[in-house]
Amino acid sequence: MRTTVITGSASGIGAATRARLEAAGDRVIGVDLRDADILADLSKAEGRAAALREILTACDGRLDRFGPCAGVNQSLPLPTIASVNYFGTVELIDGLFDALQAGEAPACVAICSNSARMSPFDETPFVRALLAGDEAQAHAALADGGNGFLAYAGSKLAVGKAVRHRADAWGRAGVRLNAIAPGATRTPLLESTLADPQYGRFAKELPIPLGRFGEPEEIAGIIEFLLGPATAFVHGAIWYADGGT
Ligand code: NAD
Repeated sequence: MRTTVITGSASGIGAATRARLEAAGDRVIGVDLRDADILADLSKAEGRAAALREILTACDGRLDRFGPCAGVNQSLPLPTIASVNYFGTVELIDGLFDALQAGEAPACVAICSNSARMSPFDETPFVRALLAGDEAQAHAALADGGNGFLAYAGSKLAVGKAVRHRADAWGRAGVRLNAIAPGATRTPLLESTLADPQYGRFAKELPIPLGRFGEPEEIAGIIEFLLGPATAFVHGAIWYADGGT
């Protein structure tokens, strides 16, 4: 039986991915703030370290698939957005590398966002600090004139870059690493964005040629696809799923 870890497994895309992979026969270890096999706060370095310890114990150091789905939007403080979205993803990816290398046809799919490419964030001090792995500097950069959009989209841009930066080492080690960049997807996270006085209008006016928001099950289907044998030659890629936005 394949062993798979999903963070953010209690809600939205993570919950849909958990359900889909369990239906396919995986043993899924869920990680979240609540309603999960492992309770951990990924916004804190101690929470991430504890999550890694508990995951490695639960899977006995051998893992087949990983879907780090936990994420937060601009409704939370800016440092929390950076810490959960970037460090809660990248520290866990790196921390599970050895366990994945010991797995069967191992693969990981990180969650980016189509918002990552809606502004030229590449050279901002915030994104540079994230990619340098400097959490304190990333928080300081946000304190210096940052806003929710930079924190969210910048952290997602950095996740996509972190995935691509690892393509060489991970590919040579036989562990596939890709990302999905969803557009607006009907989850509690999107509902809170739509209700936001500052960002709600922007979300409602997003051009979506297919004329609707995505469903979490649709994103989960692509995550399963990218984790599975049909994409055995797909590596270091970012797959957009946003209705054409
Ligand atoms: P969601 O709010 O439904 O689920 C997010 C999950 O992450 C929740 O279960 C939450 O408890 C968990 N989480 C939040 N903070 C945490 C923390 N500190 N420690 C541990 N777990 C924590 O949101 P969703 O829409 O399913 O989002 C899943 C991922 O998809 C996120 O990374 C999000 O940024 C990304 N995404 C979502 C959309 C969208 O429109 N819904 C679009 C692009 C990308």
